[in-house]
Amino acid sequence: MITVIKLHDKYFKPFISAKEIDDVLQRLAIEIAEDVGDEIPVFVGILNGSFMVVSDFIKKYPKPCEVTFIKLASYEGVKSTEDIQRLIGLTQDLTGRTVIILEDIIDTGNTLAEVHRIFKNEKVKSLKIATLFYKPEAYKKDFKLHYVGIEIPNKFIVGYGLDYDGLGRNLPEIYQIKETQHMTNLVLFGPPGAGKGTQADFLKEKYDLVHISTGDVFRYNIKNETALGMLAKSYMDKGELVPDQVTIDMLNAEVEKNTDANGFIFDGFPRTNAQADALDKLMDSKDSQINAMIALEVDDEILVERLLSRGKTSGRTDDADEPIIRNRIAEYYNKTAVLKDFYSAQNKYFGVDGVGSIEDITVRLSTVIDKL
Ligand code: AMP
Repeated sequence: MITVIKLHDKYFKPFISAKEIDDVLQRLAIEIAEDVGDEIPVFVGILNGSFMVVSDFIKKYPKPCEVTFIKLASYEGVKSTEDIQRLIGLTQDLTGRTVIILEDIIDTGNTLAEVHRIFKNEKVKSLKIATLFYKPEAYKKDFKLHYVGIEIPNKFIVGYGLDYDGLGRNLPEIYQIKETQHMTNLVLFGPPGAGKGTQADFLKEKYDLVHISTGDVFRYNIKNETALGMLAKSYMDKGELVPDQVTIDMLNAEVEKNTDANGFIFDGFPRTNAQADALDKLMDSKDSQINAMIALEVDDEILVERLLSRGKTSGRTDDADEPIIRNRIAEYYNKTAVLKDFYSAQNKYFGVDGVGSIEDITVRLSTVIDKL
């Protein structure tokens, strides 16, 4: 289970563990000690953020060393909109010393520019920069970074000394911001013949969503005689479910094809608990979630009638034969219907009467979606 935390108004998810940080600091300590040789270096931490890095790092440093801190302070610039960061507190004489700046994170490089500014007139023997985290996409300066722990993407992080408006510094691991989700993701649910495909066609237009029907993707693959199609056909012809991993991999690939979607209507997926778990993971990786499972409720005998009549024109072999149809409905009750509990437990299950005119049913579904 992924534990998301809330600091002020924002949500953050676990990103880099305490163990990983520890390993990286160990590696940096050894690397730096080797380079420094017999010198006694002065490690300079930049407050506030670097207090944890410095503390953990120097405990791992295998040889004698000195430690001091300077602090980043904000001043209002000449223009009131301008926020100038100045480093203060460098009182020690560092003439002739090997100085290693220890930073928690380097992003734009502005603090680093300030470091170079204040050290310009200090007659140090050498000035080196070490940082635990580095955001290459954000870095806009040319100063050399001598030791880099972990390169990370340009997303806001907290923990291990780093804060979001004061909070989060005490966390022993790093959390990354969860982007506000803009997607609406619906699972359209119900037994075969409930009208999921028909309704999805209307809803995708109305709400500008991408409709993914796993049944349609399988049939497309069968028509094009792909390996996936041939495999799926052997199950579909009997009215059985295609194995989970095959279906999950295919669904992941379909979602990845639509990276800028406003959201998805999943039709015919998930059909098992394993598929529902996989869908949660996939949504989570997109900093998103399933908003609702909307189920079309229709009596079995009406389903059989509808499917037999669809079979006269659809060309679907699994619609033509009553025993196969009944097997598909049985598969639904044996393996799929349990998902009602899965989504009910998250207060995301909405049942809708699936008998009536197509328009009436669209209205019923829209009423649920508009309230989400
Ligand atoms: P459908 O078009 O949704 O009625 O699906 C037709 C057939 O495709 C089903 O009877 C299954 O054999 C297969 N199928 C579609 N979606 C899935 C899924 N999520 N998991 C396993 N099999 C599926």
